[in-house]
Amino acid sequence: MQPVVARPLPRSVLTGQLREPALWDAVIIGGGATGLGIAVDVAARGLRVALVERGDFGSGTSSRSTKLIHGGVRYLAQGNIALVREALTERAVLARIAPALVRPLEFVVPCYGRGERAILRTGLGVYDLLAGSASLGPTRWMTRRETLARIPGVREQGLRGGVSYWDAQFDDAAMAISLMQTACALGATAVNYVACEELVSRDGRIAEVLARDVETGERFALKTGCVFNAAGVWVDAIRALACTADGPLATVSQGSHLVLDRRFMTGDAAMLIPRTCDGRVLFVVPWYGALLVGTTDVPRADAPFDPRPAAVEVEFLLRSAGAYLAARPDEGDVRASFSGLRPLLRGSTLRRTARISRGHAVFIEAGNLVSVVGGKWTTYRRMAQDAVDAARRARLLPASPESPTREVLLVPPPFVPASADDFRERVADAAFIGWASNFAQARTLDDIRARRTRLDFLDTSSTTPATPSGAR
Ligand SMILES: Cc1cc2nc3c(=O)[nH]c(=O)nc-3n(C[C@H](O)[C@H](O)[C@H](O)COP(=O)(O)OP(=O)(O)OC[C@H]3O[C@@H](n4cnc5c(N)ncnc54)[C@H](O)[C@@H]3O)c2cc1C
Repeated sequence: MQPVVARPLPRSVLTGQLREPALWDAVIIGGGATGLGIAVDVAARGLRVALVERGDFGSGTSSRSTKLIHGGVRYLAQGNIALVREALTERAVLARIAPALVRPLEFVVPCYGRGERAILRTGLGVYDLLAGSASLGPTRWMTRRETLARIPGVREQGLRGGVSYWDAQFDDAAMAISLMQTACALGATAVNYVACEELVSRDGRIAEVLARDVETGERFALKTGCVFNAAGVWVDAIRALACTADGPLATVSQGSHLVLDRRFMTGDAAMLIPRTCDGRVLFVVPWYGALLVGTTDVPRADAPFDPRPAAVEVEFLLRSAGAYLAARPDEGDVRASFSGLRPLLRGSTLRRTARISRGHAVFIEAGNLVSVVGGKWTTYRRMAQDAVDAARRARLLPASPESPTREVLLVPPPFVPASADDFRERVADAAFIGWASNFAQARTLDDIRARRTRLDFLDTSSTTPATPSGAR
């Protein structure tokens, strides 16, 4: 595997490329996990590809996840073995191609009820078996004493012991930036703050994507034979631009997280709460020197760009985590909170173009509009491969090789932080701000605080004076 080397990405050069009248082999709408994964895949196959993102890379759902690269214990409980197996395979691929971004993490499930440990040990043992040679560590019983040692801060009263298993953690925004840099290093043109506004059709297919530079108002007409719709929960708004005949493909569910002080649970391991009162699992995960608690699952009829946790979600998360912690956190202990919107695949009569049932599906409509719906961060690479393969089969792309992305190393981040303080130092460091604006397309202070560092996700009370060059 050859490392891909990041290159400078001046906006004037990128927008200059969007101005070129030559045909793009593919245009991608959306710069989250799905769109950026597709950009890497298409570029790695040697094709000419442009990606437009109306905000910052990853600023939609892709910076607001629980930050786990996992098979999904929840899907195992639902009996969805194929999805778990696929995600575990991808977990191993991502650990190989992005070793600086994906790290193994031990999870401990505390057990209070009689017989609970045996059931969990069996279920999580199956999880580990499904991983096969890609296992990150053995699933095992833990005594009460060991459990208290691995997740200090867990409620002691009634604790019988625990079960330990392994999964992986990553920084979602850092991964998004790395994918963008990798795609650009492979020859893609991926630009943030450029919104797709119109799709122009000729002879029953889309001929041009009309996009607008959000900063300057300049308009670009991107001629192409293949349009990937990777707009996440906004997928149906893009389909509407192409006047597709069928109904919506996605439904929206909000998931919220709280960030608490680390003192509520010290130690290196994460805690999995196997069953909350709404029947879901809940994670309490060490993250950059803080504790990430999530998530909720609340259906929504709308899809705002910057969703916020509702008061009932905050109350639910505090109550559910508090039931398993010796010290119960309250609202005053919340350092930061954030919400993301899950794009869930709606039951549709429209024929699926690629295989589904693995949590994602690919649809081709309006001649050459390839929409990707559902999925998760863990499977972004596989989703991208499926989408591009579907476009190839439909002869929307020029002849190209099979996807090589299992072997494409992603551009590593410039440093591996341990805590919010590391980020605070960087935002005051001119060299870092230079990297963020010249190599990582940061355009605003918010880009730096929320996605080139994670300060705004870790502690909303801190402020810094950093401003990237060219910031608005
Ligand atoms: C609460 C929560 C927790 C999760 N936790 C995990 C986890 O731990 N592990 C895991 O594997 N997965 C997790 N997921 C799932 C994962 O985060 C999502 O599946 C993934 O981020 C979706 O990426 P996307 O690119 O499809 O959507 P998005 O990230 O939303 O990207 C779509 C992009 O399209 C852009 N866009 C929309 N309209 C236009 C337009 N007109 N022009 C240009 N751009 C446009 C948007 O600005 C947006 O950036 C979680 C999801 C949620 C909600």
